[in-house]
Amino acid sequence: MKKRILLLAGGQSGEHEVSLMSARSVLAALPRDQFDVTAVVISKQGRWLPPTDTQRALETGLSVQGGDLVLHRAASAEGYDAVFPLLHGPMGEDGTIQGMLTLAGIPFVGSGVLGSAVSMDKVMTKQVLASAGIPQVAWRLAVRREWQDRPEEVRERAAELGYPLFVKPANLGSSVGISKVHDATELDAALDMAFGLDRRVILEAMTKHKPREVEVGVLGNDAPIASPVGELSFEAEFYDYKTKYTEGHAQMHIPAKLPKEVSERIRELALQAFKALDCAGLARVDFFYVAETDELLLNEVNTMPGFTTTSMYPKLFEAAGLSYSELVTRLVELALEKR
Ligand code: ADP
Ligand code: MG
Ligand code: MG
Repeated sequence: MKKRILLLAGGQSGEHEVSLMSARSVLAALPRDQFDVTAVVISKQGRWLPPTDTQRALETGLSVQGGDLVLHRAASAEGYDAVFPLLHGPMGEDGTIQGMLTLAGIPFVGSGVLGSAVSMDKVMTKQVLASAGIPQVAWRLAVRREWQDRPEEVRERAAELGYPLFVKPANLGSSVGISKVHDATELDAALDMAFGLDRRVILEAMTKHKPREVEVGVLGNDAPIASPVGELSFEAEFYDYKTKYTEGHAQMHIPAKLPKEVSERIRELALQAFKALDCAGLARVDFFYVAETDELLLNEVNTMPGFTTTSMYPKLFEAAGLSYSELVTRLVELALEKR
């Protein structure tokens, strides 16, 4: 019998549009001889759109207002064999939807509550990975209340790291709200912007040189495998939103031109991180490689990475011999195998 799959897309985060693009590709690729697929787009207000509005949002990339409250729909999700929460960022990639689906007893693609929540928060990720001995840049946490009440303390934390540094909302993606701060005069504006988007902000020392940005895909549950390593190259000062999503601004290189020993180290560290964070299904683990010093630093773990047919994660597994459609099928199988 065909498996009934509910594909969730859109969502309340700044990565709503990115999710709609990914969902279009997944929807087209799930083999219909195996799966009955229903898509539901979640609007930016957090409402689950009915079929006609969902269809329109997927076609036009725009979601209308209206729809049901999430919790009203949770019960009806019971009719599905598995859910594919193709949502990025807060309220989708952060353990919230995962918690709802866990309560409802429905298998779903990707990490559970713990792995999703910890991996979404850049500070929690750094803390867990540090205790697993994985190399990372130096960082400091600041919370909004501290910035409001005791800004000098936050400025001191930045000074400890030195300039340039990066200021980022702890729970976001797609480089939304991230600034490269060149000196102390730029710090306040960067913190104001980041705190406008999140209660928790991470300050990060910059790598000593502009790093090479290398990424690896991990696939599996308790016995995960790592893909070949890919690299992104671009002209911009860092990999910002515009560079990520403007055609032609960034180039993908698979496999990355790295000494074999470095690629193997990256793949091994990615698997260690996946396990340390209790991830499941899939994750894209991103690293900085500083060629000048042969330094490898883990940057972040994305538990629901960009998923269009031209996105890095599917391309990495394609290079390993798994087609896009085989990959999405495998992800659903992994969801059903979990537990
Ligand atoms: P997101 O989750 O939004 O992708 P990242 O932490 O990956 O956020 O940061 C986005 C980009 O900013 C990185 O791909 C890199 O280009 C740059 N960047 C972030 N942190 C650092 C850092 N500590 N040193 C050097 N570059 C950084
Ligand atoms: Mg990210
Ligand atoms: Mg990133």
